[in-house]
Amino acid sequence: MKPSLPAQRLAALRDLLPPEQDALLVAGPENRRFLSGFTARDDSFTESSGLLLITRDQAFLLTDFRYQEWARQEAADLEVVVYTQSLGTTLAGILKDREVRSLGFESTYLTYRQYQRLTQTVAESGLNVNWQPLEGTVEGLRERKCPAEVAAIRQALALTEAVLLEVVQDLAPGRTEGEVAWEIERRLREKGAEGLAFPPIVAAGPNSARPHHQPGDYRLEAGEPIIIDMGARVAGYCADLTRTFILGPPDEQFQNIYQLVHRAQARVEQELRAGMDSRAGDALAREVIAAAGYGEAFGHSLGHGVGLAVHEAPSLSPHKDRATTLKAGSVVTVEPGIYLTGWGGVRLEDMVLLHDDRAEVLTGVGFYEW
Ligand code: ZN
Ligand code: ZN
Repeated sequence: MKPSLPAQRLAALRDLLPPEQDALLVAGPENRRFLSGFTARDDSFTESSGLLLITRDQAFLLTDFRYQEWARQEAADLEVVVYTQSLGTTLAGILKDREVRSLGFESTYLTYRQYQRLTQTVAESGLNVNWQPLEGTVEGLRERKCPAEVAAIRQALALTEAVLLEVVQDLAPGRTEGEVAWEIERRLREKGAEGLAFPPIVAAGPNSARPHHQPGDYRLEAGEPIIIDMGARVAGYCADLTRTFILGPPDEQFQNIYQLVHRAQARVEQELRAGMDSRAGDALAREVIAAAGYGEAFGHSLGHGVGLAVHEAPSLSPHKDRATTLKAGSVVTVEPGIYLTGWGGVRLEDMVLLHDDRAEVLTGVGFYEW
């Protein structure tokens, strides 16, 4: 029998751990889910539904009373340990029992306060443990999606597209951004999304010059750009989709900018593939936009990985510190945009699945043709 997904992932993680590391403490909610199958989500970073401790030959899920039944049901490959006093005391007991001397922890997710408390309790119990900050280890494993993950992403995207097409029918001058955003939320949930990948962005007129805008009382007007950026979450996996609309006939500036953004996106989708440097991927779009004189107006990265988190590795960014070689099996967004203060913006966002020889476009919603 084939090992379960969590068992395969735990094995892959152990191969990745530096040899001097006896164990890894996992605090990232998506990482926890990926390795254990436990689907609880932490909606606030001050509330945790559990940590994983992965040693060379065992895997523990440390949680409290509220989650014990749920955790035991879903995390069948791990030993669920329910702490009653404090997480630190229970952790110290296991570290002692398993003779862990060097412990990796996720510096991105363990808060400073948690870190202080845990290290203190462990030290007070008489153990000499070397705590090592690690970054991106589980996230690296999450970059390559397995077929089941790609299927969930496709489902989330199909649902998102269906709702976008419905909502667009009802766009009309006088409706507020907030009303449209609520319509999106309601329809996503009614069609079967378990939640939103992120709160929908509806940005109209000058607000569309803000790449991330919170929908408010601004009323849609004919002749102004409207950016809609939205995504459903299905079986834990996210979708991310942006289209830009206009009510009534577009003026020349809108047409030109829209066509330019679309051309930049189309070039990326033609040429992007696994094995490429992520900066080279970003440059495919940036060159097209810069050559037309709008380089300064495209101030964000070209795209990002999507999976259990709506923003995850890899990043298609021009920045050196986020550079990586793109992997086959990654699902990334391709979302060039141009933003002009006072006028508005245009962003077009697709999702693609990377293969060794091409990028497979997952998004099916079309574009304006003039
Ligand atoms: Zn988006
Ligand atoms: Zn995005």
